[in-house]
Amino acid sequence: MAITNLNNFADRFEPFQAATSIGTWEFWPHTNHLAWDQQNYLLHNTTPQDFDNTLEAWLQYIHADDRKLVSNTIDQAIANLLSHIDIQFRVQNQDHVIRIIELHAMVLQDVDAPNSLRITGINIDITKRLHAEENLQLAINIFQHTNDSIIITDEKQRILDVNPKFVELTGYKKSEVIGQTPRIFRSHIHNKAFYANMWHIIEQQGYWRGEIWNRHRNGGLYAELLTISKVQNLNSKITNYIGLLSDLTVIKQQQWELDRISYYDSITQLPNRVVLAPRMQQAMAYTKQVDQLLAVCCLDLDNFKPINDKYGHDIGDKLLFQVGERLRNCLSSDDSVSRSGGDEFVLLLEGLKDIHSCEGMLARVLHRMRMKYVIADYEITLSASIGVTLFPADDVEADVLLRHADQAMYQAKEAGRNCYKIFDLAQDRETQACQEIFIQLESALKKREFLLYYQPKVDMRHGLVLGSEALIRWKHPQRGLLSPGAFLPKVERTSFIIHLGDWVLEEALRQLTVWDAAGFITKISVNISGQHLQQKGFVQHLQKLLSKYSKIMPSQLELEVLETTALDDLDHASDIINKCRSLGVSVAIDDFGTGYSSLIYLKRLPADILKIDQSFVRGMVRDSEDRAIVDGIIGLSHAMHRNIIAEGVETEEHGIMLLNMGCDLGQGYGIARPMPATEFPEWANTYKPFPSWFQLNQCDLEHQAT
Ligand code: C2E
Ligand code: MG
Ligand code: MG
Repeated sequence: MAITNLNNFADRFEPFQAATSIGTWEFWPHTNHLAWDQQNYLLHNTTPQDFDNTLEAWLQYIHADDRKLVSNTIDQAIANLLSHIDIQFRVQNQDHVIRIIELHAMVLQDVDAPNSLRITGINIDITKRLHAEENLQLAINIFQHTNDSIIITDEKQRILDVNPKFVELTGYKKSEVIGQTPRIFRSHIHNKAFYANMWHIIEQQGYWRGEIWNRHRNGGLYAELLTISKVQNLNSKITNYIGLLSDLTVIKQQQWELDRISYYDSITQLPNRVVLAPRMQQAMAYTKQVDQLLAVCCLDLDNFKPINDKYGHDIGDKLLFQVGERLRNCLSSDDSVSRSGGDEFVLLLEGLKDIHSCEGMLARVLHRMRMKYVIADYEITLSASIGVTLFPADDVEADVLLRHADQAMYQAKEAGRNCYKIFDLAQDRETQACQEIFIQLESALKKREFLLYYQPKVDMRHGLVLGSEALIRWKHPQRGLLSPGAFLPKVERTSFIIHLGDWVLEEALRQLTVWDAAGFITKISVNISGQHLQQKGFVQHLQKLLSKYSKIMPSQLELEVLETTALDDLDHASDIINKCRSLGVSVAIDDFGTGYSSLIYLKRLPADILKIDQSFVRGMVRDSEDRAIVDGIIGLSHAMHRNIIAEGVETEEHGIMLLNMGCDLGQGYGIARPMPATEFPEWANTYKPFPSWFQLNQCDLEHQAT
């Protein structure tokens, strides 16, 4: 009956019980009957069919460790007729889910009916509540003990709470910040736009994360990694902002230290090459913008190595430090200095109007470098050499600017050290042009773009063709046929002149062979540069070529060597000329009269023939001095028993004058211009001298006869 009553009672409260997870029960010890309501079955995850309504059956559902507690509590409650029973125990279902149950019960007994003794109770499932409490406790623990600082504000950014770590980081007491806004921590390092952007992102994304500088209560700055999140309630209304801050100061310091090691030289504390590169870029961009000049200077200490060796590296390092300090002190705040390695420094002098505006500074730097250094007990003196280039006059990339300044620095060293030299742009452009043409010419040689023209040499008095001079021509794919004046002067002192000379020698011998085979026997003069002639192995190479073209007699070949270059090293040149002559090849001194032309030289130079330079020959018609020179050279050659030929015979009159002076052999436009190989035999076979020349010859013969 009681059970029915209970059930009726329970039925009424069932919706409420279900909502609150409260199960009700009643236990009748005399009959060992345990009545459960529906909610209690749910709490124990069982059904009326599977439960036989005894205390023992209930105990089976209770966690083994808590069974004794429950059965003892019930026993004692009955024995003592307790009106308050409050315990917690765990229920473990077949699916091993543990629930925590809070039991509240009381013993009831009707006054006159001992068998009416019963215990009525409720079981409340407090698992969720306990977990929530645990979570809350965990959150409180985190808030208190985390290594990060936490700040909680209301929706108007008024501080509600901060944790102990925050107090430690900022130096502010909790009581000092509650009610304030985080603006009190501002460092003024970030501008308004920074904060506006930060709050904009928080509103849009719900959070912002970034590095920020704030100010400690004592005024010092600290860096933090800050995450600000907004908290909204169910109505999407902002209720709080939570800020999570990690202190970055140590990391920043480590980063600075790392930067210092990577960007600054450990000996002088000056910026190193890594810093120099972007600085140069900046300085170059700015210089162009403001239309001024930037001086890039390479400074190298003179004789630093011996000092280092003499006093040891420790003193050497200290010396470098002092040098760095002096350089820093010499420069203005716009200028910069860095150490690029060893005893080399780079100075960037900005904002110059012209070259002269940095000369004073450079002189000052050199002067400061020379002043006595006192290190330990030593007094040391040294000097420096500086190379300078000016941007954008020297309008090249930064690395090339440094190379140019370095080149100028070596010139300063060569000029005796302790001075500065400015990079010579014109000379550099010249060198570059030479390099470019060198590459083009080497390629042209490979592509067989060169050919030889032949200019006749004749005996004017007897109307005989003696041979021809081979003159190089470049059949340029775009510019047409080029004379040597258009390309040779720039490469005269390079290896190209030797490669070309070898080709010309072989081509001349090949041409002689072709003419020989066609029955045209003649002689070719080849121009050989002094450098080529004096090249090691020249004679052997010539010998090899002569044996390769064995049909050609060595006497069919002549070498023309410029007087100036031949006389460079007289003994050496004489030796080679002698060796060539002993092979049977004759040697002429070209452009004679433009070099040293002293009697002594001429005496020692074993040349077969002298070629009077065309400038005198061409000029002698009008210029008495030229005429005197030509006359002198002719007289000299006769006295020294050398053959003589005149080049630049442009007119009949030139020939007449030369013949009258005793020079029979000539070459020039007045006889024939240089011509292709195919035209020369025909020309030679039909050559007729000016009749006046021939008549001179007749007079001569008649004169001899009388
Ligand atoms: P060079 O050896 O003194 O040759 C004579 C130059 O004078 C030639 O010029 C020739 O065309 C020019 N010439 C000849 N007769 C007259 C004249 O009556 N009036 C004038 N105004 N000029 C005359 P080209 O062919 O331009 O050669 C110039 C120079 O280039 C040569 O002077 C020679 O030093 C050099 N050269 C030419 N071919 C070679 C070569 O194969 N190897 C080397 N190393 N140098 C060469
Ligand atoms: Mg010549
Ligand atoms: Mg000449």
